[in-house]
Amino acid sequence: MNYSDPIEVAREAGKRTHHFHGGLRLKHNKRISCQVPVERPPLPEVLVVPLLQHIGEIAEPLVDAGDHVLKGQVIGHCESCTAIHAPTSGIVEAVEDRLMTHTSGLPGPCVVIRTDGKDQWAALKPLRDKQDTDPDLLIAQLRDCGIAGLGGAVFPTYIKSLDGRARKIHTLILNGAECEPYISCDEMLMREQPDKIVLGARILRHALGADRVVIAIEDQMGAVFVALNYAAESAECKTITVVKVTTIYPEGGERQLIKVLTGLEVPAGGRPSDLGLVCQNVGTAAAAADAVGEGKPLIERYVTVTGNGVSQPRNLLALIGTPFSHLVSFCGGYTQDVARLVVGGPVMGYPVASDATPVVKAVNCILALSHADIATPQEEMPCIRCGECARVCPAELLPQQLHMQIKNGRWDDAIEYGLEACIECGCCDLVCPSHIPLVDWFRYGKDELRQQAIETRATDLARERFEAREDRLLRKKQERAEKMARRKQMLMARADAKAKDTGTNGNTTDA
Ligand code: SF4
Ligand code: SF4
Repeated sequence: MNYSDPIEVAREAGKRTHHFHGGLRLKHNKRISCQVPVERPPLPEVLVVPLLQHIGEIAEPLVDAGDHVLKGQVIGHCESCTAIHAPTSGIVEAVEDRLMTHTSGLPGPCVVIRTDGKDQWAALKPLRDKQDTDPDLLIAQLRDCGIAGLGGAVFPTYIKSLDGRARKIHTLILNGAECEPYISCDEMLMREQPDKIVLGARILRHALGADRVVIAIEDQMGAVFVALNYAAESAECKTITVVKVTTIYPEGGERQLIKVLTGLEVPAGGRPSDLGLVCQNVGTAAAAADAVGEGKPLIERYVTVTGNGVSQPRNLLALIGTPFSHLVSFCGGYTQDVARLVVGGPVMGYPVASDATPVVKAVNCILALSHADIATPQEEMPCIRCGECARVCPAELLPQQLHMQIKNGRWDDAIEYGLEACIECGCCDLVCPSHIPLVDWFRYGKDELRQQAIETRATDLARERFEAREDRLLRKKQERAEKMARRKQMLMARADAKAKDTGTNGNTTDA
């Protein structure tokens, strides 16, 4: 092996494990939601399906109020992204702005479906995955079935697969290292549906043209390790390796996981495909198996409903569009001291104002926190330069410096200090003795840079348009001047010829 070639080194992914910088050992709190098998709650009366669920543009609604829809029917189309489907059969009550499941908490366009209780499927078009199936057909099936990354980023899987194929990927990494406390939906999925994950792994590997698959799980998931290995052996799948990684937050972050499996850093500003790798979540693999094997679009997902604010924490198989309140009530309702609902985990999650918020593809956990869970905000103190934040930062940044640059509006310096590389894991926040809300500052900084980039683009565009107009006017002026000059020349030539003619004729007459 050529050890100086990172792509060659990355081919050995998972053969031994490494460590990433920083991170924290956090209390897991996962067991409380893993005590009972996953169940599907009854159909809610109304589903609210947002038309923006992926990274990309808002889908165009394909239905109107009053339309009858079937389960799995496409109700939203997006050229640059992936489709949105009806999660069950029923009547479209409205296509209107409703509360979106998003950090902004702002409303956005949704399709509201009154369910008819029949749960009647539209015609499905499965695609048998064989060794000789054209990978382009698999990728088109993933696109048509609305498959997107279920680890939180919801990046359309077909785009990642197309990019991966173009860049000659050698290894697919399936991320089952669910590192944030309380969230256990991936663990339950791997425990209960290992065969489906193995099938999905084979499909995604085939679509990418990769040689092998590494499924990474946490070292405390003993039952999952056994289940996945058994499923891979039963399927006679020798290209899958299951690897246990040390449970340390945030080892499930894409860059951190790659570091752990290969010892390599994804280059700054680069992508895992620069090393010949593609990462997908284990839930995405299961969804790909459903899409290809059964033609089922992504209309439901495993969701952890947990926390001290809910009576019976557990995992549910929830339809997209289900209001959080419906799931909580299936879990025995709220406890007396519920204080706040959070989407995601306690570190990287975000609070929502209402439990009418619907489940979307990105929702892995609904966390109901009690008053006791929510620490009284401590007064922010000046930075004492203890360096704790830098010690735990998995992106190897200097959070205290980054904070100072953003606070003082020194945007070039903030970029220099690696603001874009911050994964918002919250480790620095958790250890800061001065209680500085560092992650809030970094999110604000990133928003500001994004806004500046938009404004710069708009200014550039306006300048380009202005310059193009000036060029056009100048060109026209020159063309007009040239035309006038040509005309003048022509007239003068004509006048000369006439004068010559007259002279000649005169001479002839005189003669
Ligand atoms: S942990 Fe807080 S106090 Fe310590 S250096 Fe970082 S920002 Fe400053
Ligand atoms: S939030 Fe950003 S700066 Fe803070 S520890 Fe995580 S990666 Fe580092």
